[in-house]
Amino acid sequence: MEHNGYITETEIQGRPDGPLAGRTVAVKDNLSTEGVRTTCGSAMLEAYVPPYDATVVERLKQAGATITGKTNMDEFGMGTTTETSAFGAVENPAAPGRVPGGSSGGSAAVVAAGDADLALGTDTGGSVRCPAAFCGVVGIKPTYGLVSRYGLVAYANSLEQVGPIAPTVTEAAELLEVIAGPDSHDATTHDATDHGTDYEFAAAADGDVDGLTVGVPTELLDGAHEGVREQFRAAIESLESQGVTTQAVSLPSVEHAVEAYYVIAMGEASSNLARYDGVRYGVSGGYDGDWNDSFARSREAGFGEEVKRRVLLGTYALSAGYQDKYYRKAQDARAWVQQDFDAAFESVDVLASPTMPVPPFERGESLDDPLQMYLADANTTPVNLANLPAISVPVGETDGLPVGLQFVGPAFGEKTIIRAGSALS
Ligand code: GLN
Repeated sequence: MEHNGYITETEIQGRPDGPLAGRTVAVKDNLSTEGVRTTCGSAMLEAYVPPYDATVVERLKQAGATITGKTNMDEFGMGTTTETSAFGAVENPAAPGRVPGGSSGGSAAVVAAGDADLALGTDTGGSVRCPAAFCGVVGIKPTYGLVSRYGLVAYANSLEQVGPIAPTVTEAAELLEVIAGPDSHDATTHDATDHGTDYEFAAAADGDVDGLTVGVPTELLDGAHEGVREQFRAAIESLESQGVTTQAVSLPSVEHAVEAYYVIAMGEASSNLARYDGVRYGVSGGYDGDWNDSFARSREAGFGEEVKRRVLLGTYALSAGYQDKYYRKAQDARAWVQQDFDAAFESVDVLASPTMPVPPFERGESLDDPLQMYLADANTTPVNLANLPAISVPVGETDGLPVGLQFVGPAFGEKTIIRAGSALS
C-alpha cells in the first residue's frame, strides 16, 4: 500500500461470527501468525514463519475478525518513528512528509489511511500511543498483565503489552475486550475481575465524565511544544465544561523515567536478542571452524544499526561491575516512578498529559540523533515503568499536524481512561 504500512499483506479469515465479524484487523509484525511470516521489521527474520499463533491472534480469529496483514514497525520495536525497519520507512497518512511515530507506525498508518478497520500494536515505552497520536487515531496501552504476551516476539518483557489502535475510542475498547483476559500460556496475565473490574470496556465509552477528577502532572506539560500545549489546554477546558475537576499534580521522579526506561529496555533486549545467532533463529553466518565468528557474521548481517546500538549498551549496563551503577539504579528509579503514580492516584481519578511532547518529526530528522528520539518518549515511558494503563486520543492539530492527549489510570483502571477518552471524541 502507498504508505508502506504493511510488510506482508494476507487474508486470514476468522470464524464466521463473533464480535469482530465483518471487520478487518491489521497485526503488528512482531505478533506470531501461524504460517505467515513474522519479521519484527528485521532482515534477521526476513524468512521466519512461526508454527503457531500468538494468543491475541488466536482471539482475533475466534472473534470473527479478518486479518489483513502484518504491519511495518521499527526493527524489534526499537524506535519512535518507524524508520528503523529493514523494510523501509512508513509515511504518515495524516501528515504527509512526516513520520507516523513508532514503533507500531504501520499499524497506526493503515488505520489512519482506512486500509484496515482496526489494528494491534505493542507498547514497550509508548509504541501504541505515539503512533496513535502522530496519525490522529486512538491507541490503548493496557495495564501490564491484562493482555497475553504469548507469541509476541520479546523486546523488553517487563515493560511491554499488546494494545489496540482504532479510529474511535469505542472501537479501540471493543478490540481490547477481545484480546484481554488471562491466558494459561502467559503466567504474567491477570484476571481483571480479581482487581475489582470487569471486561465491559466498550460500554465504558459513554462520555460521562461528570464528577471526574483529572490530575495534570506539571513535569509532563512544561517541556512540551507550544502548539501541543494549546491543543492540550483546549481539551482540558472541554473536559471542565463537562463537569471535570482538574488539578495540578507533581511527579518528581518522571524526570528520570527516560534514562531508567532505556537502561532497562536495552538490558532486557540484549538478553532477548541473544537467540538470533543464525543457529537458533536468524540468517546463517556460515561455519568455518569458529562458532563465535559464525554468530558475529549472522548478527552483523541480520541486525540494523539501532538494534546493534541497543544490544551493545544493554550488554554493557548488565555486565559485572556496571550492573550496580546502571541497571540497579534504573530499577530504583522504576520503583520511585511507581510510588509517585500511587501517590497521585490518592487524590485524582486519572492523569492527563500530551501523549507526545512534540508534533510528528519530519522524515529523516531524528535518525542521526538517537538521543533526540529517546527524549520524545518522556511522557509515555513512565507509564510502562509503572505498569499502568493509558489511552491516547486525538485532540486537534497544530499547523496541520495531529496532537494526542494521554490519560493514565490506576492499575486495571481501563474503564476510567476509556470513559475519559470518550468525552473528547
Ligand atoms: N520508542 C521506545 C523505544 O524505542 C518505545 C518503543 C516501544 O514501545 N516498543 O524503545
